[in-house]
Amino acid sequence: MTRKLGGGSLVIATHNSGKLKEISALLDPYGMKCISAGSLGLPEPAETGKTFAENALVKARAAAEASGLAALADDSGLGVDALDGRPGVYTADWAERQWFEGEPGRDWYMAMGKVEGLLQQEGPNADRSAAFHCVLAVAWPDGEHAVYEGKCPGSLTWPPRGKMGFGYDPVFIPQGREQTFAEIDPAEKHAVSHRADAFAKLVTDQFGV
Ligand code: IMP
Repeated sequence: MTRKLGGGSLVIATHNSGKLKEISALLDPYGMKCISAGSLGLPEPAETGKTFAENALVKARAAAEASGLAALADDSGLGVDALDGRPGVYTADWAERQWFEGEPGRDWYMAMGKVEGLLQQEGPNADRSAAFHCVLAVAWPDGEHAVYEGKCPGSLTWPPRGKMGFGYDPVFIPQGREQTFAEIDPAEKHAVSHRADAFAKLVTDQFGV
């Protein structure tokens, strides 16, 4: 049986305030008081894992060890079947542009174009199946841990469509729909997303609901 959080303080291993807000709202009903790793001044470890689970665990373990509290981390990305699961753990890296519009930053159109270029090299009948993945890892200071894997299957379209969401949303059509994630109302996206799937598994296992 997995070890249980059982309420109290939980360090969220992120320096992204948007992620902290979203995760805090999801866990607040279960009596969890979420604190960000950033506000505790904890360093961000290098994401050197070859899988989403490895990277989520690296982040959760580092935060748990440094804070002495239970910690939660997530890692997510896009896996394209015809590209053997790429970009996978490199999903954000494919958008890295050292100087984008005068600032270091990420160019999502470039990243989506890179995926599409590789798919087109596979020929006109390339399998366009893809999935967003999200892994949540909980780690305790003594090294015990639990991992929850979420997935949202779908397919890729080109050119990009829609203005909502972020990242690769404009080219991803979730299974059973015709619109991309960037054309779907955010509340609807959140109900079927890879993150929702992983959180549902965490909440069921940790809080029995
Ligand atoms: P990380 O888990 O914060 O490292 O994010 C990995 C990358 O995956 C993000 O920068 C996005 O590009 C991509 N990604 C994760 N979730 C989504 C999503 O729901 N829509 C679009 N892109 C996503």
